[in-house]
Amino acid sequence: MRGARARAVGHGLLALLLAVVAGVARAEGDAPGPIAVDVGHTLEAPGATSARGRSEFEFNRDLSVHVVDALRARGWAVGTINADGRIASLRARPQAAGEAGAAFLLSLHHDSVNAFELRPWTWEGRALDYNDAFAGHSLFVSRDNPDTAMSILCARAIGARLQRMGFEPTHKNGRRRSYADREHAVHYYDGLAVLRHARMPALLFEAGVLKNRDEELLLRDPARQARMADAIATGLSACLRNGAPADDEAGADRPDRAEPPGP
Ligand SMILES: [Zn+2]
Repeated sequence: MRGARARAVGHGLLALLLAVVAGVARAEGDAPGPIAVDVGHTLEAPGATSARGRSEFEFNRDLSVHVVDALRARGWAVGTINADGRIASLRARPQAAGEAGAAFLLSLHHDSVNAFELRPWTWEGRALDYNDAFAGHSLFVSRDNPDTAMSILCARAIGARLQRMGFEPTHKNGRRRSYADREHAVHYYDGLAVLRHARMPALLFEAGVLKNRDEELLLRDPARQARMADAIATGLSACLRNGAPADDEAGADRPDRAEPPGP
């Protein structure tokens, strides 16, 4: 990318990053359409089980309430997808977002670890398992989404705001998923159905690692959920209202230059 357009995109990104760091998003009358917040998993297939035996779906649902509140407080129209945990299929999620005219799809999840990394323990008489080696959030985008550049930009903005507020990302998923932005733990996961079938920019957020016994307690804390939601809403608002993505996916992508931070 060269010349005036490159400078314009550079200025757009600079304005966006300044907005993210300052924690402000410019309010505009012509903000794009509503934001769809998707609650990952279902009552019947509730995803991972935490170290203390709680289902991922319950964590996702709790966080979604705070994220919806934080986005509405910034003036967005927000629709929750799968609030009752009874959605029919993965494909029905992006479809519902499309029918709502959503400008962005944000799918909320909580992370686990590989089965071979689990250790047994007993909690309140229940035989469960845990892994305390990994903690932190991470973000995923798909190159099979029609607007990967905007998806990456919003993921970076959210990641930057989270870190500005003291949340630390995990690099555990860098072992299998390549980075769109290493510094902010934004990964490519092209095959994720909820992202690749979306007709609008989309990202999947993993809020933390449920198998980590300390982090599980943090993730259950409503005040911390609200703080995390505030970071997400600030980053997403800044991206959607102020952000100008590079004009192609390669231009939006930052090469993996830096080593991940130490443990
Ligand atoms: Zn999940």
